[in-house]
Amino acid sequence: METRRPTSPAAEEILGGYFPVLDHGWAALVDYMGSDEDVERAARVSYGHGTRKTSQTRGLVRYLRRHHHTTPSEMVELKFHCVMPIFVARQWIRHRTASVNELSARYSLMPLLFYRPGAEQFALQSQSNMQGREGGVSAAVYEEAVRRWEALRADAGDAYAWMLEEDVARELARIDLPLSTYTQWYWKIDLHNLLHFLTLRVDPRAQWEIREYGRVLAAMVKRVAPLSYEAWVDYDLSARSFTRAERDALTRLVRVDGGLLRAVDGATLSKQELGDLGLSAREIAELVEKLTSPEWPDFELDLACMRSAEDVGKEMEEAVPGTNFE
Ligand SMILES: Cc1cc2nc3c(=O)[nH]c(=O)nc-3n(C[C@H](O)[C@H](O)[C@H](O)COP(=O)(O)OP(=O)(O)OC[C@H]3O[C@@H](n4cnc5c(N)ncnc54)[C@H](O)[C@@H]3O)c2cc1C
Repeated sequence: METRRPTSPAAEEILGGYFPVLDHGWAALVDYMGSDEDVERAARVSYGHGTRKTSQTRGLVRYLRRHHHTTPSEMVELKFHCVMPIFVARQWIRHRTASVNELSARYSLMPLLFYRPGAEQFALQSQSNMQGREGGVSAAVYEEAVRRWEALRADAGDAYAWMLEEDVARELARIDLPLSTYTQWYWKIDLHNLLHFLTLRVDPRAQWEIREYGRVLAAMVKRVAPLSYEAWVDYDLSARSFTRAERDALTRLVRVDGGLLRAVDGATLSKQELGDLGLSAREIAELVEKLTSPEWPDFELDLACMRSAEDVGKEMEEAVPGTNFE
């Protein structure tokens, strides 16, 4: 049966397809409602589909995002099925503006799948960012970490499987499964709040593991609502706001002259002068970072990696200990 609902061909192509994230994780767009045209229609409270040119829709979508008129983008919704380690889920669940239904480990048997960081992700504690990592670790330390992870996980998995064999309640058997254990959920969120989530979670300050999910979800948004995605990259993700002191500093370097911007000849500002304008050492570093030409982000899905729900479900089932306990 043909649908009268607006659809997006690029989103239809990947609907229900599972994309790998980390070593055992997945993200799938299982449903969506609306696209860029629905953002425009809501903003105009107008009738019918398809009466506007793409260039007109683009102009309005970009204006709305630039000026933080966000409710029209709440009219578009996306629903995902995601499989992620519990420590990633704990960061993710802090975003309160979504509807979530997580796998119940009180009811279901947990697949014994554990996240193991690759050697290239294994790093030292960052000295500049207390929530970050930087610098390589020796191969010997990585190998020992892997050995210890595997021993701990084998013990935790054995204890879990043994308790299930003894018919201990699942809600108790699961309590010592580590944070690296993969959980999964259905997650539904509107486009406005999803873009807010992505702004925070594809940012380099977010933990690399959740950023990997952010990258895949962002690429899915690009297929559902490409104009909103483009406006988000331009006006949110790549944008930086300037504080009063930063604006004071910038107006000493560039001035507005007859409606045009004119560089003030040979002007420079020393750290001392920036400090005199009220910027702390950290703010000066942040200003430099804001003005350093970044790489403009873009997110794409690798369709060659897309797998079916049946394949992924089978993989999960095979990782459940002794399915004969059922
Ligand atoms: C890099 C990074 C590091 C972090 N570190 C920590 C940490 O160390 N410890 C920690 O506890 N958390 C940490 N967080 C989580 C962070 O503080 C937020 O809880 C999380 O990012 C969700 O953001 P949010 O509240 O804007 O999103 P959502 O919950 O999706 O909310 C979206 C917006 O809705 C509004 N809103 C939603 N609910 C309410 C409410 N009840 N009252 C008022 N307004 C509301 C707010 O405007 C909010 O911005 C970190 C997040 C990031 C990205």
